[in-house]
Amino acid sequence: MSANNTQDTIAAIATPPGRGGVGIIRVSGKLAETVAQKIVKKSLTVREATYLPFFDQQDTVLDEGIAIYFKAPNSFTGEDVLELQGHGGPVILDLLLKEILKLGVRLARPGEFSERAFLNDKLDLAQAEAIADLIESTSEHAARSAVRSLQGEFSQRVHELVEALIHLRIYVEAAIDFPEEEIDFLSDGKVLGDLDAIIGDIECLQSQAQQGSILREGMTVVIAGKPNAGKSSLLNALAGKDSAIVTDIPGTTRDVLREHIHIDGLPVHIIDTAGLRESDDKVEQIGIERAWNEIEQADQIILVADSSETQEFTPHAIDPAFERFEPFKEKLLIVANKIDVSQLDNQSLNSDYKTIAISAKDGTGIDELKAELKQIVGYQQNTEGAFLARRRHLDAIERALAFCYLGKEQLVEFNAGELLADELRQAQNSLSEITGEFSADDLLGRIFSSFCIGK
Ligand code: GDP
Repeated sequence: MSANNTQDTIAAIATPPGRGGVGIIRVSGKLAETVAQKIVKKSLTVREATYLPFFDQQDTVLDEGIAIYFKAPNSFTGEDVLELQGHGGPVILDLLLKEILKLGVRLARPGEFSERAFLNDKLDLAQAEAIADLIESTSEHAARSAVRSLQGEFSQRVHELVEALIHLRIYVEAAIDFPEEEIDFLSDGKVLGDLDAIIGDIECLQSQAQQGSILREGMTVVIAGKPNAGKSSLLNALAGKDSAIVTDIPGTTRDVLREHIHIDGLPVHIIDTAGLRESDDKVEQIGIERAWNEIEQADQIILVADSSETQEFTPHAIDPAFERFEPFKEKLLIVANKIDVSQLDNQSLNSDYKTIAISAKDGTGIDELKAELKQIVGYQQNTEGAFLARRRHLDAIERALAFCYLGKEQLVEFNAGELLADELRQAQNSLSEITGEFSADDLLGRIFSSFCIGK
């Protein structure tokens, strides 16, 4: 995907498929005004909502609704834009879209409206990504931090750092160019002081972006245990009243059931291994193998055991096939459930494995378990300053930091101004990738094609 066919006028249904009170079709490009004249048979006043009938080419009324015309550059895409808000039925919207496509307009690719907005400098790349993240956010925390990025807070911070890096580089380059000056600019402490301040700021941005990335990606937890140990009850207790448990419709991996909950705003993807029984069936074996691959990738494994069943809390009593979890010992957490009805005391807990005693029924130990899970991925509940960062943002920040550290070494160890200037330039380029001032076409293609149509 690149800038070469932005001459086309594009159209798409912008509302989700299905039935709804209102359905919106968006048209962007040079033909938007012509489309308006053909469909509503009227010249529209710019940026004014007008209620009127929508016609097909035979002058039959297809629907009626609101039309708004935005003149370039004052629109979402920066081009001429027509928005038709009709009734939200799939058939009627399709009919209307078909009429529009007869007028020399083509169907928009996924993310093409946002891509045009980016190419016309209406949004930078981080903001365009924030639109997709906002729409896809699964929790209030995630939505709030996506909005912060969309409003440009994240980009603003990146810009400030890029500016600071440029400023420092110019100073260093000037110091190199005038070596005959009395004062040695490089070792007067200012350069090092400024560089340390920039490093501190990038580290701070990194930690806020990491929080945002946790909000976006969440953590993956495998829940295992014998039937009736209390796995479903535990899920309900963790999710709390406010968070519904969403279960995916089992797809190809029929042995793995996935559920999604939130723990204090942290998205937790649960993999339920109830179907993980040894099997002679070939198809089932493939599923089981796949499930084990996921267990290897997971952040945490919770093995739920019924503590009222047994006095001695040995691994074998917890799960007859306990050995299979041994290789993942460091991310294994044993949850001794039903302590409300068990004789279990702290001494009988097996000290070889991290164990938390809980009652999914009366809530004992649930807070401790939640805290443990949040701590594993470094989630801080106060995500006020978090930016909903993506992997690629974190990579860019990490690279920028690495260049700064190298630059500092060049300065402190060798007083090497030219090398420092070069590292500063590289750090600046890495950060600029976040907002898209410095990024390759194929990266843009990859980012926008993951958006949905009409966005
Ligand atoms: P699963 O098969 O592992 O998902 O187990 P369930 O969550 O369905 O629980 C099995 C049974 O144990 C149910 O009757 C639950 O009400 C009961 N149960 C679960 N957790 C507790 C607990 O902490 N205390 C007590 N007393 N009963 C529990």
